Amino acid sequence: MNRILASVTTLEQHLDAVATNSEIYRPLRCPHCGVAGLWCHGCYFRKADHTTPSAKSVNPVPILRYLCRACKHTCSRLPACIAPRRWFDWVMQALVLLMLLAGNSVRQCSDCSSRARSTVRRWRDWLGERGDTFAFWLRSRFAELGRHPDQESLWRDVMQNMTLMQAMAWCDSHTDVP
Ligand SMILES: [Zn+2]
Repeated sequence: MNRILASVTTLEQHLDAVATNSEIYRPLRCPHCGVAGLWCHGCYFRKADHTTPSAKSVNPVPILRYLCRACKHTCSRLPACIAPRRWFDWVMQALVLLMLLAGNSVRQCSDCSSRARSTVRRWRDWLGERGDTFAFWLRSRFAELGRHPDQESLWRDVMQNMTLMQAMAWCDSHTDVP
């Protein structure tokens, strides 16, 4: 999908890029129909600054929007510092996957993550079906991950030593379904 710009990690960078280098936000092609050559289509605003006191807050934060002339859908790319909801799901999913790989039960993972057991089960099944593919993608991009003998140590390395933001942004650009 490539919806996340991993290089933009702070709101200041984002505002600066919107003002001076907005081309980095233009998707190469439409995520709906694949046609290239998207048109600028104004922007929408998000309340993204949750840390600065309101007087100094940079809210609302502009997000550039693009229009596909072929299918008329609009789309946007988000900086890494303004993550889509799925991003947080991913972070939690990675943590739960680690717990599962370390031998914890579905019930234990559910208790720790405050996610329903059915959700944990779905993630477990995802790992069983697609974990190898996912690990293959990660290893192909981050060669140092190749030394891990199993998925548990690979995921642990990803969680502990990589910029998770960038790992997930990279995966985002290679898969539609996390
Ligand atoms: Zn389109």
